[in-house]
Amino acid sequence: MPPARPNSRRDFLKAASLGGLAFGATSVPALGATTRESAANSAQRLAKNVIFMVSDGMGMGTLSAAVDYLKLVHQRESHWLRMYREFPVVRSLCETHSATGLVTDSAAAASCWGIGERVQNGSLNVTADGRKPVTLLQRMKAVRKLTGLVTTATATHATPAGLVTNVSKREDQKEVAFQYLERGVDVVLGGGATYFSESLISAYKKVGYAHVTNRAQLLAHRGAGPLLGLFSKNYIPMEVDRLNRKELAAVTPSLAEMTQVALASLQGGSEGFFLMVEGGRIDHACHANDPIGAILDQIAFDDAIATVLKFIATNPDTLLIVTTDHGTGGLQVNGVGSEDFDSKLPSYNETDRTFLRLTQFNRSLEQVKLEAKDFKKPKEWQDLLVAATGLNFKAADLAKVIGMKTLTEAIPKYSGIGFTSMNHTGELVEFSAIGPGSALFTPFMRNDQVHAHLLRATGLA
Ligand SMILES: [Zn+2]
Repeated sequence: MPPARPNSRRDFLKAASLGGLAFGATSVPALGATTRESAANSAQRLAKNVIFMVSDGMGMGTLSAAVDYLKLVHQRESHWLRMYREFPVVRSLCETHSATGLVTDSAAAASCWGIGERVQNGSLNVTADGRKPVTLLQRMKAVRKLTGLVTTATATHATPAGLVTNVSKREDQKEVAFQYLERGVDVVLGGGATYFSESLISAYKKVGYAHVTNRAQLLAHRGAGPLLGLFSKNYIPMEVDRLNRKELAAVTPSLAEMTQVALASLQGGSEGFFLMVEGGRIDHACHANDPIGAILDQIAFDDAIATVLKFIATNPDTLLIVTTDHGTGGLQVNGVGSEDFDSKLPSYNETDRTFLRLTQFNRSLEQVKLEAKDFKKPKEWQDLLVAATGLNFKAADLAKVIGMKTLTEAIPKYSGIGFTSMNHTGELVEFSAIGPGSALFTPFMRNDQVHAHLLRATGLA
């Protein structure tokens, strides 16, 4: 627990003067901040380490739904919001456009962070006129910072790749895997083993990488050398499936566990490190209009925030950023009245009861789709929907379910969670930062301004 916040003018002055003694005149006396925190929040001090956390595809509705789920189901606060309560957080609204237009994909979004320029959707740090600027992780490597990428998507997916590589088409994940080695990313953890050929893995090992492929090996890993951990052929399973299937949980690490091992591997460097941590599957769940998939992956991301906050408590020279690249699906918790309950109460009174039905859901819609691949009869779809959600559908609603699309459409009415589309959105997104350099981030930013601030926060610009 951090020290209590100063809650009177006298406490504040006392904290500010202690801050002056301990840290010199550069301390930013953030109102309500403790001494250590306000000093760590100074724009004048450089960040030795940077931890950049991305909840891919997280609109504000998804964050809200996960916060609500934690509150109603687990009776606890989210770690992201706890960070807002306990630290002097700098918050921005971030505009997420790409060079293509109002709605970005993850490649163009990550390229903004990678090179500070907007590029066309689908491109990783290659500009419309064919330039391939030096990327953020190359800049960090050049000053001997260690670098790491952790994700629940493929390790070579657009978001991690966008911080490191120059590749014209994001689909070329084999090229991304090669460039990670060529550019010396020290820690690579995620899915996507299929993009690392045997000969490429041999090449990684030859220059000293430890190679792990399951949870036990990862957790047993010790040592500060480079590390390549690939835990799935493609994406790491969604959290709802990992939690409901023992065989998956046994071999697949959580995002928090990967983050913990990455921090342990990177913290020995004398010049610090840059670590990106991505909750990569929130986006996928929202594309599939899968409410419990999105919420539980968002909570897994939140658990990784807890791991990072623990690290920061003993490493205050670390700049932490928690944000997203864009929204996906337009997920919202919608108010529910007496639509399918017997209640005669006024509007919205059944919202909580309806929302709590999500606790009965036991698999992702991605898993449903997999199980349904040979289905021929509507009845098979209807039975699977009931088994996967535990919902008591009215006969007329269930009769409409004849395939994946109609199955997805049946859920919002019974869960209160609706979506606006299966695509990315153009909404403004949350951007939050704590630690040295965080005051550089302004209340409203374009996504292509973040790169320059990161360079300044680490003394590279
Ligand atoms: Zn997406």
